[in-house]
Amino acid sequence: MNDDRLEICHACGGPLILKRVEKLLRSGVHTAIVEVGAEVCQRCGEQLFSAETVRQFEKIRGKLARQETADFLPLGQSFQVSPVEGQPSS
Ligand SMILES: [Zn+2]
Repeated sequence: MNDDRLEICHACGGPLILKRVEKLLRSGVHTAIVEVGAEVCQRCGEQLFSAETVRQFEKIRGKLARQETADFLPLGQSFQVSPVEGQPSS
């Protein structure tokens, strides 16, 4: 099968390996964590998802937006923290 997979990272040219990763999806006030297969760059950590995986992300985001979270497993609350002021270290 020859789909849209790349052999090397488009950002840095490093080698890609297939890994399970946790992807954070956010829509409206809801956030979902999805474990998916992705090609991950061993050099810079760039994550590449297949077109099919991206379609699944869009479906999940749509469900979050419509509050259709009945078949999702609750994982506790999410919090938003206001930005922490800090001096850039120079
Ligand atoms: Zn890379």
